[in-house]
Amino acid sequence: MFGNRKTQAQVQRVPKPAQEVLDYFGTMVDRCYDYAEAAQAQGRPIVGIMCEFTPREVILAAGAVPVCLCGGSAATIPAAERYLPSNLCPLIKSTFGYHVQDSNPFLKWADLVVAETSCDGKKKMFELLGASKAMHVLELPQKAEQAEGLAFWTREVEKLKDHLEARYRVHITGEKLHEAIRLMNRERRLRWQLAELMRRDPTPLTGRQLLDLKSIISGIPADLEQYEKALQCLADSGTGGLQGGSNGKPARVLLTGVPIVHGAEHILELIEGCGAVVVAMENCTGLKPLLEDVAEDDPEPLASIARKYYHLPCSVMTPNLRRMETLRELAAKFRPDCIIELIWQACLTYDIESFQVRKLAEEELRLPYLKITTDYSPSDSTRIQARVEALLETAQNGRGGE
Ligand code: SF4
Ligand code: SF4
Repeated sequence: MFGNRKTQAQVQRVPKPAQEVLDYFGTMVDRCYDYAEAAQAQGRPIVGIMCEFTPREVILAAGAVPVCLCGGSAATIPAAERYLPSNLCPLIKSTFGYHVQDSNPFLKWADLVVAETSCDGKKKMFELLGASKAMHVLELPQKAEQAEGLAFWTREVEKLKDHLEARYRVHITGEKLHEAIRLMNRERRLRWQLAELMRRDPTPLTGRQLLDLKSIISGIPADLEQYEKALQCLADSGTGGLQGGSNGKPARVLLTGVPIVHGAEHILELIEGCGAVVVAMENCTGLKPLLEDVAEDDPEPLASIARKYYHLPCSVMTPNLRRMETLRELAAKFRPDCIIELIWQACLTYDIESFQVRKLAEEELRLPYLKITTDYSPSDSTRIQARVEALLETAQNGRGGE
């Protein structure tokens, strides 16, 4: 996508079994296609989701297949701009553009889309999408610390369950919910353990390689086996280390901000291509959804599902104190040399919240900080590259140019 850029994605050589896992996830979309097609043939409906606030456990407990529909392609944006303003977040435009072009098979197959009132752009886009797609809207209260908000959200999660039961003529029992909770907890724990391998120095993977280790469909048993295989073979593997900047050792980056959905990974390649390794991604395609499990022994499984999701430290919440706390913890755990914050253009909540993140980075954590505001187009890659290189130089000087 970034055809003119000078940098290339860093590639970490890994043991053969780990490479086999990377190759497996390299065909993620095709495999998810086959999985969804087979599930449909067995009578399991496809349910589209577009946000980490949507509790996949409830969808799984209804016997349906939750598929993430977030778009990461610049190619579908012009079609979306026939309906949506051009100064809108590329993630929203790309997702809607797939709908306009009828070019996302998962969206075509989706019998239902579960939408959520997170940011204004998505909320209003959903109205357009809902004109031709069956949709259930989850209303998300946004005062993260208020008990009334959690009570309202718990009712919303119950309404989702009621809706799925009526639509698919199923009874979502406590046992089915507990089963889905155990499955999702297992997936979250495995992905968290893989992410924790990046605490090592040098890291056993690049951030780009780690980003690939997930699927747009959660809870696929074969994926969980692959996570276990990767953990086994990377647990004790040594590593040759990545090639870094001028002094050879890559700067360790904590990446925060907006999600990097499938198709938009070029921005991560650009950062690592400058001589960095992204050791932790605080965003929704990284660690954010993995921070907390759902309690497995709660006699009220819907309430514990609602609690876990309500705690998600997204910038649409106010105040979003948990995100700052998370960044403190991740900085202590992963020992970054600097923090990069990624903002998709027109993402107002993350953009405004970046004031607090910069303050935290520079004044409290004493780490160099850079905010990158961009979209899915390659037009500003040279400018971004120059700014990342300057940041990495500052970071390397800060650690004594080791
Ligand atoms: S960043 Fe916020 S709005 Fe976006 S997917 Fe994550 S939780 Fe949802
Ligand atoms: S990146 Fe920001 S504007 Fe875009 S969908 Fe997520 S929260 Fe909304």
